[in-house]
Amino acid sequence: MQKKVLVGAVLSAILASWFFPGLGGSQGGDQFLDGIGETALVARYVLGGNAEDSSRNNFHASLRGSGGAFVEDSRFGRALELSGNGSYVQLPGQALAGEDTISVAGWLYLPTGASGPFFDFGQSPSMRMLAGVTSASLRASVVSGGASRETAAAAVPVNQWIHVAVVLDPARRVLTTYLDGARVGQAADVAATAVQLISQTSGDANRLYLGRSQDAAAPTLQGRLRDFRIYRVALTDAQVATIYRNAAGGQSGGRRGAPPQPVISTAAIPRESPLASRVDRVPDIDAVTSVGHLPRLPREIPAVYKNGASGPKVRVIWPAPKDNTQVAKPGTYTVTGTVPGTPFKPTATVTVTPAGKPAAAPARALEPFALGRVVLNQDTKGRDTQFIKNRDKFIRVLAETNPDNFLYNFRDAFGQPQPAGTKQLGGWDNQTTRLRGHASGHYLSAIAQAYASTTYDEALRANFLKKMNYLIDTLYDLSQKSGKPATEGGPFNAEPTAVPPGSGRAGYDSNLRAGAIRTDYWNWGRGFISAYPPDQFIMLERGATYGTQDTQIWAPYYTLHKILAGLLDCYEVGGNRKALEIAQGMGAWAYARLSAVPPGTRIAMWSRYIAGEYGGMNEVMARLYRLTRDRQFLECAKLFDNVNVFFGNAAHDHGLAKNVDTIRGKHANQHIPQITGALETFRDAGELPYYLIADNFWDIATNDYMYSIGGVAGARNPNNAECFPAEPDSLWENGFASGGQNETCCTYNLLKLDRQLFMFDQSAKFMDHYEIGLYNHILASVAEETPANTYHVPLNPGAQKRFGNPDMSGFSCCNGTALESNTKLQDSIYFRSADDKTLYVNLFVPSTLNWSERKVVVKQQTDFPYADTTRLVLEGGGAFDIRIRVPRWAARGVFVKINGREQAVKAGPGSYLTLRRTWRTADTIDLRIPFHFYLVPVVDQPNVASIFYGPVLLAAEESAPRTDWRQVTLDAGDIGKSIAGDPATLRFSIEGVPFKPFYETYGRHSVYQHVTLK
Ligand SMILES: [Zn+2]
Repeated sequence: MQKKVLVGAVLSAILASWFFPGLGGSQGGDQFLDGIGETALVARYVLGGNAEDSSRNNFHASLRGSGGAFVEDSRFGRALELSGNGSYVQLPGQALAGEDTISVAGWLYLPTGASGPFFDFGQSPSMRMLAGVTSASLRASVVSGGASRETAAAAVPVNQWIHVAVVLDPARRVLTTYLDGARVGQAADVAATAVQLISQTSGDANRLYLGRSQDAAAPTLQGRLRDFRIYRVALTDAQVATIYRNAAGGQSGGRRGAPPQPVISTAAIPRESPLASRVDRVPDIDAVTSVGHLPRLPREIPAVYKNGASGPKVRVIWPAPKDNTQVAKPGTYTVTGTVPGTPFKPTATVTVTPAGKPAAAPARALEPFALGRVVLNQDTKGRDTQFIKNRDKFIRVLAETNPDNFLYNFRDAFGQPQPAGTKQLGGWDNQTTRLRGHASGHYLSAIAQAYASTTYDEALRANFLKKMNYLIDTLYDLSQKSGKPATEGGPFNAEPTAVPPGSGRAGYDSNLRAGAIRTDYWNWGRGFISAYPPDQFIMLERGATYGTQDTQIWAPYYTLHKILAGLLDCYEVGGNRKALEIAQGMGAWAYARLSAVPPGTRIAMWSRYIAGEYGGMNEVMARLYRLTRDRQFLECAKLFDNVNVFFGNAAHDHGLAKNVDTIRGKHANQHIPQITGALETFRDAGELPYYLIADNFWDIATNDYMYSIGGVAGARNPNNAECFPAEPDSLWENGFASGGQNETCCTYNLLKLDRQLFMFDQSAKFMDHYEIGLYNHILASVAEETPANTYHVPLNPGAQKRFGNPDMSGFSCCNGTALESNTKLQDSIYFRSADDKTLYVNLFVPSTLNWSERKVVVKQQTDFPYADTTRLVLEGGGAFDIRIRVPRWAARGVFVKINGREQAVKAGPGSYLTLRRTWRTADTIDLRIPFHFYLVPVVDQPNVASIFYGPVLLAAEESAPRTDWRQVTLDAGDIGKSIAGDPATLRFSIEGVPFKPFYETYGRHSVYQHVTLK
């Protein structure tokens, strides 16, 4: 057994390095096609036998008109042949919604004398982007209203395959054409962006054609097409050449190539820190750790400034070893850090002490309040806050949703009829998407939370209760069918480990097409519930990778986590007992299967890019144990240990548990929920390493990988915007990806981790991050009028947020977590100590808390952040402590009055102040925390920074895409002297450029600026 496992591990290591040379610490898998991360790919039509989109977005196209056919082809095996007599391909109209930049690349074969449109994307002959061949010449053009820009004609050879690429780059205002990887034409002064050409309000208004023109009278294409791709980034010359060369040379995808250059020019930005000339020296430090554990070295050190002047602490970047050999034995060693933008190199002398008695495991000292106990209020001027606005956008549309739409894929999987009026969801829940069901899981959580939260409106509450009970009743009935005979005496298989392949199939596959999906639920084992058959779970165990072929899968346990979390929310938050029963059945199914999988196979599964992404399965399993005390669920939680990340290797030598950074280059959102799961496992099992995994991860992620909005990922190297950069403290070097930056799910999950860690350790740093991420990413991720929301929030200058899913009909992962975020915005304003002796006030949001355990009501009245004050008014009384967060940004002090009388409080920034007394009804606490302007620079580029006012990130409003970083000059002594405006509206200007809160920004923005201090 041992030997077999080892061989498997070695083999997969060899395979990984074969397919993904040079990947280093990042993950393999289907994430790089021709060196370009899949987050940049909108759609890919291979056209080798059907018009399906083989990207994960599943924007399947249709072959229309007559005469088009997939034919044998000597070069590609098979290709699409269009007749020139009216046949063409039509893409779904919503495929390009929200895209600013569009590149296309594909293969075209024209017989002698043939011509026609290659592609034509737009709304009408006067609003479009197109390319085509006439008289053996290729031209591309952009037509916007009266204006038209066209590239010069390029001669096209006939009777041979040619590779054609067209790049619309609005930031550089150019439209470029390529033939066989070489640039052949470019039009300048192109004013239109894709957002203008494509209707953003109606997918039906868009006509996205291959081989056909918007102009109805124009002839269709005569010729062959193959491997047509659409990207949301401006492909570079080198990337177009690579795509061509790889296909021409017969190489398949997977090669990563060199990290791309920065997408926005950095030419004008110096590397020297503004502090460099003022600092005299940066002192060396000492640190202590115990054997095996890498020390946690301070990221900031107080510097000594010249002439005795005072100044801020300086940021130090320390080496981040990939294992713990440095601390293998007791003794001392030194490491040398760098202070970015300065010549200073402080050293840390680390003393490694023998492993003593293990530290005591921290206890969970706090509890949250039930959602219905905290109600969001208007501010003191009677205005809806951004919290209320966003909540209501979601509540309004959620209330109108048809639960049958969210049950469609479940009924489809179990071969059950659909009630009249049911519509299948789109996006990642369409018929063939292997992630289908994920949105239904988020929806279950959202409905439960909406039910629990709408204590302010009985009609809404009744609506959500009815929906929740209907959803659970239906899922319960389906789950009861699994593993039992469909008709009396019929065949069945009750064993989760003995699920046979579908009838007439040789093995397991992920074919979910209508008519092909297996629906033999009687064979699936007792308790099974999902929106597709069990095959993907089984294929994962057998080594299936992530992808869109029938032999590939898309994260079955990720989807299951959403469903189980939804069920547990319906039980814990919504009080529905049947929901718990469904979760227990499926939890037992998962445990039965995974407990039979050898440890080495599990390690390989959970390390597999996306395929092995399991969301927070360990979290729901630990939670299920807590709710049922059934030991198998806690065992099951541990079967999800991502051993390589948590413990370094199978021998548990290092990993996050010993403060080794094992997340570099990893897919961020694949791993963050696993960490929350480790913490939940600790909560039940009490085993310290699980706590250390979470605590060390938080420290590494928020210090070494975080952007100013509180989010992470956005890697340029590896070239996948959903990954952590290849090295810590290297956002400038390896981050700021093109196209996308901070995945909104990641921040949703980080906030969850903040909150859970704070229950164990009441350090203000956790809620400080919570505030930053809540205001500047979660609140900032929702459209102005609808619940449409962001996937990646772009942080490059001149970028624009893309909001999707306004009507809750087609979900990405982030559209799913947005349902959850916006139905529980009030959940972390207050916590209570488990013994009800202390109230924690974490956030300054107008709200009413009903602390029923103490018969105390607390009303928080404030205009925060449009004012720097808040007031707490009590009803009821008693002797208890009130602990109020003094934010990290509160450098100008904090001022407290109780019943109008000034209190002497000692509390520095980044702490909690404690007010202890016997409280009475009508007692008031007034708090003032003066705001000031400050910079949050990029760690490895101190001249690029975000501007904050209190907790609020101020973004520059932009009128057009940019090719450079916006430069602002600020007063070196007090940057506020260079900023004009009104704190009561949070509208400011710097050198005439308007700035406003990022959470109120719906147009183009620059989150980071190139800052010069004068
Ligand atoms: Zn997401």
